[in-house]
Amino acid sequence: TETEAWTAQRVKAVDKEYVIHSWSVQGALDPIPVAGGSGSWFWDYDGRKYLDFQSQLVNLNLGHQHPRLVEAIRAQAADLCYIGPGFAERSRAELAEMIAGLTPGDLKMSFFTTGGAAANENAVRLARHVTGRHKIVARYRSYHGATAGAMSLTGDPRRWAAEPGISGVVRMLDPYTYRCPAGHPDPCPVCSGGPHLEEILQYENPETVAAVIVEPVTGTNGLLYPPDGYLQSLREVCDRHGILLIFDEVMAGFGRTGEWFACNHWNVVPDILITAKGLNSGYVPLGAMTVSARISEWLKDNMFWGGMTYAGHPLACASGVASLRIMEDEGVVENSRAMGERLGAGLAALAERHPSIGDIRGRGLFYGVELVKHRGTREPLVPFNAKGAAAAPVSRLLKAAMERGVYLTANFNVLRLTPPLVINSGEIDLALGVLDEVLSLADDHYQG
Ligand code: PLP
Repeated sequence: TETEAWTAQRVKAVDKEYVIHSWSVQGALDPIPVAGGSGSWFWDYDGRKYLDFQSQLVNLNLGHQHPRLVEAIRAQAADLCYIGPGFAERSRAELAEMIAGLTPGDLKMSFFTTGGAAANENAVRLARHVTGRHKIVARYRSYHGATAGAMSLTGDPRRWAAEPGISGVVRMLDPYTYRCPAGHPDPCPVCSGGPHLEEILQYENPETVAAVIVEPVTGTNGLLYPPDGYLQSLREVCDRHGILLIFDEVMAGFGRTGEWFACNHWNVVPDILITAKGLNSGYVPLGAMTVSARISEWLKDNMFWGGMTYAGHPLACASGVASLRIMEDEGVVENSRAMGERLGAGLAALAERHPSIGDIRGRGLFYGVELVKHRGTREPLVPFNAKGAAAAPVSRLLKAAMERGVYLTANFNVLRLTPPLVINSGEIDLALGVLDEVLSLADDHYQG
């Protein structure tokens, strides 16, 4: 009833009975009932605090309950909660203009969605219409979202449950230099990008390919940074064949890598940029598809075949405007870079003490730590797609971190270190201290 108090026990019990959680066997779950959060921390009903070293789903870049962001949502709610996408509305217009100003190159007009997957769906459909072609090249170590098209683009094993998916997706390999799929020393055709893409296009017929979609820095699937020249090389191949280049920066965009956009590290500009998550720190669901000046021109005379009830929702857009202002006013991108250097240095020091650390990859606050059984063979601490008992060496480590008040996650054998971009040096050091303790659990499996 409405008068019955929502105790931790009641939240848990009602959740267990009625809520379906993502990517889970429901009976196996035991979620922590969360009572609140502030900055880089959240806490349960007993007042137990956790340092959020994930930014939740790598979206809460400004941390929990940023006062200015909360206030902007409150103000927009008082003004106008909703108006249909067919009307011109201030927060939507302002956010689109700000994105055009912040994004690299000539990226200009934006279509707003409720998240990353929907933005990717629209990008694929638009690319097909603009080019009059149907195939899309995507990579294996990728995540693009859980809707039919986005899941078909996705390479990670969650795709298997959604197959056969949409047609026309062609797969290329990843520039995973630590585990180079071609087995070469760098630079190899795969890790340098263009030669591998060219070969695939040769077999597929480039005139049937509408777009190539990549995460410039792979997020969920292992924090993979491309070698210098890789994105440039993809750009050149796409241009040669009239293929559009789509960058999915849902996770890597808006300061995560210590630049406003990950592609800025290499000065490569896509035809379509997909963002979400850090665009407004996820306080209200929001995603965006931002297109080049050329596609913006094309849209003046051609139909845009896309729309949703909540395209450009005023509450979401107002939170986006506030979020970007906060990022500029508070030097959030600079903080991401500075705290990232501190985190990187701390991890390098940990690698000297913990043989299970095979590789450390990161810039800004977008770090992956690859755990191995042996540095020479690089055998992963747990295999690809490990679950249950097979994943235990990593899941035990994550649990031990949680017991010490630090929330961490992993993709199989790669720890993901992606704290809020507003984190401070004391909090970074605290997490490094806990990592130092729990990494010994990984070292126990070392076979050196
Ligand atoms: N693209 C990337 C790179 C992502 O990391 C994600 C989510 O993790 C998505 C797309 C999907 O976004 P959403 O969950 O908002 O649909």
